[in-house]
Parts: sequence; structure tokens; C-alpha cells
Amino acid sequence: MALVVMKFGGTSVADMDRIRNVAAHVKREYDAGNQVAVVVSAMAGRTNELVSFVNEASSAPDQREYDCVVSSGEQVTSGLLALCLQDCAVPARSWQGWQIPLKTDGAHAKARIVDVCGAQMKASLDQGEVAVIAGFQGIAPDGRISTLGRGGSDTSAVAIAAALGADLCDIYTDVDGVYTTDPRIVPKARRLSKVSYEEMLEMASLGAKVLQTRSVELAMTKNVRLAVRSSFDDPASMPAINLKQNSHIGTLVCSEDEIVEQQVVSGIAYAKDEAKVTLVAVADQPGVAAMVFGPLAQANINVDMIVQNVSADGATTDLTFTVAEADLSAALKVVEANKTTLQYKDLQGATDIVKVSIIGVGMRSHAGVAGDMFEALSQKGINVLAISTSEIKISILIDAAYQELAVRTLHSLFGLDQDSE
Ligand code: ADP
Ligand code: ASP
Ligand code: MG
Repeated sequence: MALVVMKFGGTSVADMDRIRNVAAHVKREYDAGNQVAVVVSAMAGRTNELVSFVNEASSAPDQREYDCVVSSGEQVTSGLLALCLQDCAVPARSWQGWQIPLKTDGAHAKARIVDVCGAQMKASLDQGEVAVIAGFQGIAPDGRISTLGRGGSDTSAVAIAAALGADLCDIYTDVDGVYTTDPRIVPKARRLSKVSYEEMLEMASLGAKVLQTRSVELAMTKNVRLAVRSSFDDPASMPAINLKQNSHIGTLVCSEDEIVEQQVVSGIAYAKDEAKVTLVAVADQPGVAAMVFGPLAQANINVDMIVQNVSADGATTDLTFTVAEADLSAALKVVEANKTTLQYKDLQGATDIVKVSIIGVGMRSHAGVAGDMFEALSQKGINVLAISTSEIKISILIDAAYQELAVRTLHSLFGLDQDSE
């Protein structure tokens, strides 16, 4: 007997037929004698709708009330799935974040999990009940409902798996695993049978929304065996989990040494929600960078890529950096507030850019990857606006219009296309 956590995302619970389909997946595991904790998202599109209601109600919403509203989508699906399970003779009950309780910090709308008290839920599982948990939500120190940031149900699932000491945490979604890049952009993308925690972490944080970044981080630190698989597979024809077989369906996120054949580049991600800020003709002298980035840090604005040109005249230079699109107007205001000391000629903000990244632990031991990348891009006439690197990734900033071309070009270049095997 295994203890499994099964998480179903928005498209997997989009309507009653899909919820019944989820119930069939759960019943398969329950009938095989496994203990099952299920984590559900809100129905597809529901959270967006709730967010827009909040924004209609207030121009500067109180984040505690935002959480009260947007967490409700998960409450609905947890109750509906529990009912569908009961209807097919599987004893089940719903759990809201506060009932578990899944405790978070007080950062409403983007809270971090601090503790999951699994004892009460474990007792219910031991009595043969399936636990159906509303993902995305918890309880803050002020006793109010909190939410974990968009895509946060993945993180709920991993945290619950860690708290219960689950054998496996299966993330069921609308694709059948993690691909070399978003399969909706590149039809030739290939499904990875295994991917390392580190690579998955980079892929998620650089834009591959198949898993929320924090869920991967948590799985890595808590050693949770995490798999991504499809909820659209026929529940009746899929085998129940068998831990002894040591095989998995979909993609297993695991430690690097479990992966035998390692590519140089394993995946390509892109992120559209970036914005670029340029200070034109700013003084080229010590202390200027500190005067720009110090206040931004104080304002809690994360800066990602930074480029400063070598000044032609020794007096002024252009300074460009990127921030999250949502932070652009705040970043411009912070820089503008120091205009008199910075003495730049012009301040420009742009959102028509995209960050494209190549990721692979194989890059640690391979030289020349960056050279190949820039050569291929230049042959397609794609101009690189900024670059940032780490040991296992290279990110470039380009015009948004070139996003698909860049992703496809790099996908072929690094031998990731399905037909290149
Ligand atoms: P859910 O609602 O189940 O949480 P998401 O929409 O959050 O699902 O994540 C699944 C989506 O992630 C897929 O439909 C796919 O378009 C996208 N995606 C982006 N990058 C990748 C990738 N490398 N592999 C698989 N899917 C990806
Ligand atoms: N429903 C939430 C969202 O859309 C959480 C999730 O689906 O993971 O962001
Ligand atoms: Mg998701």
C-alpha cells in the first residue's frame, strides 16, 4: 500500500464531466488499496474571473479580502470532487487550508507555507477516507485566509506530500509530462522521461508554468518524489501506482544522479512578463549603479538582467535592466525620484520584450554553448538586447516579435526536436 498525493489543475476540473473523470482516477488508486490525498485547483478560468471581480470592486484592493475572494474557487472544486467520490462509493471529505491547517506567513496574495499540520488528515486517511484538499490556500498568522501566488496549488500538493510523508506526489495536468519546451509553441517538443530538480527549478522560474517554481524548490529540499502526468488519459486503462516496479508515467522530477543520459541542453523556457527600463545617457561614474539599484531593492522590486554599455565619451553611458512587467510603473517612479542626482537624459520603459533561456546541467562541463547560441540567433537576424548566465542556464532578452522563432531555432540547434533522435 502506498500513500499518494494526486494534484489536479484547472483544466482537469473545468466542468462536472472532468471532475467525474478526476474521481475515476482517484477511485483507481483507492480501489488498489492506496491511501489518497487529492489537491484540486479552481475550475479553469475561475481564478482569473475572481481576480477581475476584485479589481472591479477596488482600485487598491486590501490583500486579505483579495485572498478571501480568490481562494473560493478551490473551495468549490474540493466539495464537488468529494461529492463525486462519495457518489461512486469512495468515502471522501473536503479540507480547506484553514482546516488542515496549512499555515503560511502573512504575505497575503503571495504567502509562503511555514507549516502543515498533517496529523488530523493522516488520521482520516487511516480510517479509509480520501482527503480532498483545496489547493492554493492556507491560513495566515492573523487568522485570515491566505493564498500562495498564481499556480500555487502545485506547492500545496508538494507541501502536503512532505507533511504526510507520501511515497509520491503526482501532478495531473493537461499535458502528459514536462517537455523540452512548451509543446503549445513547439510541436516538435519532446517529453522528458526524467528531469533533475535543478533543471526543473530553472525551467519553472524562467517561464515554464507547468510547475510553480516554489513547488519544485520544496520538492527538492523535502525530497518529495514528484511526477507530472496527464489527467486526460483514460482512468480505467491506466495502471494503479506500483512502487515496487520503480517505473513512472509521465515525467519524474528527481535528483541528477538518477538520470543516466544527460543532454547538454535539456530544455528551453520563455517568459513574456518582463519589462525593460533604460536610463539614456546617465553619468558614467562610481556610485551611479548603487543610486539606481539601492532604491529599487528598498522598494522590493527585483531586478533581473542588467546591461551597462561602455561609454563612448567617458562621460555618459546607457544603463538597461529588466523587472517583472507588474513592477514596471513602480520601477520608473523609483528611478524618476532620483532624477536630479542621476542626471540621465531620458528614461524609457518597454514591455515588448521576451526572455528566452536555455537550461541544462550538461552546460557545466561543455564549453562553446553560448557561442553556438548567439551564432544561430544572428543567422536568423535576432538581436540580443541583454544576457544573463548561471552555471546551468543562459538567458537572453529579445524583441517579443521573435519569441517563437528564437525558441524553435534554439530547440533545433541543441538537438531537442522530436525527429532529431
Ligand atoms: P494546471 O492548470 O494543470 O496547473 P498549467 O496551465 O499551470 O496547468 O500548466 C500546464 C501548461 O504548461 C501546459 O498546458 C503547457 O502549455 C505549459 N508548459 C510550458 N512549458 C512547458 C513544458 N516545458 N512542458 C510542459 N508544459 C509546459
Ligand atoms: N487557481 C489558482 C490559479 O489559477 C491556483 C492554481 O491553479 O494552482 O492560479
Ligand atoms: Mg498550474
